[in-house]
Amino acid sequence: MDKVTPKDVFQANRDRAAPLLAKLKAESIGHMIDGKIVPSISGLTFETKSPIDGVVLANVARGTADDIDRAATAASLAFKSWRDMPAVMRRKLLHGVADAIEDRADDIAVLECIDTGQAHRFMAKAAIRAAENFRFFADKCTEARDGLNMPSEEHWNVSTRVPIGPVGVITPWNTPFMLSTWKIAPALAAGCTVVHKPAEWSPVTADLLAKLVKEAGVPDGVLNTVHGIGEEAGKALTEHPAIKAIGFVGESATGSAIMAQGAPTLKRVHFELGGKNPVIVFDDADLDRALDAVVFMIYSLNGERCTSSSRLLIHENIAETFIAKLTARVKALKVGHPLDPATEIGPLIHERHLAKVCAYFDVARQDGAVIAAGGKPYDGPGGGHYVQPTLVTGAHSKMRVAQEEVFGPFLTVIPFHDENDAIEIANGVNYGLTAYVWTGDMGRALRVADALEAGMIWLNSENVRHLPTPFGGMKSSGIGRDGGDYSFDFYMETKHVSLARGTHKIQRLGVSSS
Ligand code: NAD
Repeated sequence: MDKVTPKDVFQANRDRAAPLLAKLKAESIGHMIDGKIVPSISGLTFETKSPIDGVVLANVARGTADDIDRAATAASLAFKSWRDMPAVMRRKLLHGVADAIEDRADDIAVLECIDTGQAHRFMAKAAIRAAENFRFFADKCTEARDGLNMPSEEHWNVSTRVPIGPVGVITPWNTPFMLSTWKIAPALAAGCTVVHKPAEWSPVTADLLAKLVKEAGVPDGVLNTVHGIGEEAGKALTEHPAIKAIGFVGESATGSAIMAQGAPTLKRVHFELGGKNPVIVFDDADLDRALDAVVFMIYSLNGERCTSSSRLLIHENIAETFIAKLTARVKALKVGHPLDPATEIGPLIHERHLAKVCAYFDVARQDGAVIAAGGKPYDGPGGGHYVQPTLVTGAHSKMRVAQEEVFGPFLTVIPFHDENDAIEIANGVNYGLTAYVWTGDMGRALRVADALEAGMIWLNSENVRHLPTPFGGMKSSGIGRDGGDYSFDFYMETKHVSLARGTHKIQRLGVSSS
């Protein structure tokens, strides 16, 4: 048998995508409300285009407050029976969703590549991760209501949890399918019904998710998807009185806006926001492994990743040699068509995002930093929103390129003198999502981890997600934690129930004889 070449895989990916794209174009994308695909009440639509070549992939229903109201009503009507369904049945249905995602993982991967520009090597894994998210939370359905037993002398005190009600989930465009499942699966496992507002720049796989959930037998109205613009459909969702909580992933500024929008209806909010995450490399680290992790954690997923390490803090003793090796690696990264298995960096999601990332090339120069690699748009296949992977050196921590989230394949290198200096630079930003530390000294690793202002810290490792662990950020990077049982703290109300064990003394009022 002939060996399968990367060229064959590229062609197979294109062949897989072609009929899916034809169907998408012919059918267009509607909302999923109460188990039915419907257009917007207003009849409005918007176009979604591929970042590879600007081709219009589909017309998408553009939801407004009226569509959100329909979806929130459907989610409210479906809530009671979904909440009261035996947990083992909910578990079975959510495993069914995981099976359906696995069955369609190859389709999901190619559609995600074409709608977002992400490279296939990463999207193939992301689709499988999405199934794992559903499977993990399916298995947690039966423990969602678990509580504590806190007996006192006179009373038997227990706590239990109940789902909060219909919730809104608002998601961004980076790795959108996987990320949506990460928010939606725990909400459904908790017994909540959901109105999902996916990002307007990546509606394609959100539409597929809604259909797969329905096909898996999840009752109508349990997951509703309303497409549209953030300031229209998204805003209306955060303001709707029937929606009890908003799980949001996106920019910090949008999080602030959502908090204000949700205030009149006292929304519970959970925010996963931006980051300017440091990777700190000490001179006693395994430098080969550190180099692999540094490159992976900013240049994978186009750098469009909230947990990317976009600041490299390098010990001054090793800065020169490490940066030389790093520069060679960055220059060798393969920018190309997302469906090509050899591609490491695809086009950025949108022309506006490309313009934002490219603007930081000038910011770097104005700041007085040096562009050691990249620094220009890239003329890639299809003529889309490609950019050269970029490395900025000669930076210090007060520069804008060391403070602001670029959200592209853009790494800023800052040298440090000692442990305290590294900690000060690492913490000297508004964000606090993740941090990565490379050192051979375990005492130092733990000391630094203790001092870092970040919700998630990896020592001698890139970001490796373990689903039961808490996921979330400090400072402007977020409010609340997801993952394992932490997700249920958000999607559920904790109730205390107290039963008198005997006939304890009750103060008697109104019985005075005088
Ligand atoms: P964004 O904030 O512009 O949009 C996110 C979502 O919010 C979209 O669905 C959008 O339509 C909606 N939205 C916008 N304005 C709204 C409003 N006023 N009311 C309600 N909804 C509104 O973010 P983006 O550009 O799509 O995504 C990139 C950002 O997401 C980056 O900052 C990145 O760091 C962050 N992110 C964070 C995490 C995390 O876990 N911390 C994960 C992924 C992405």
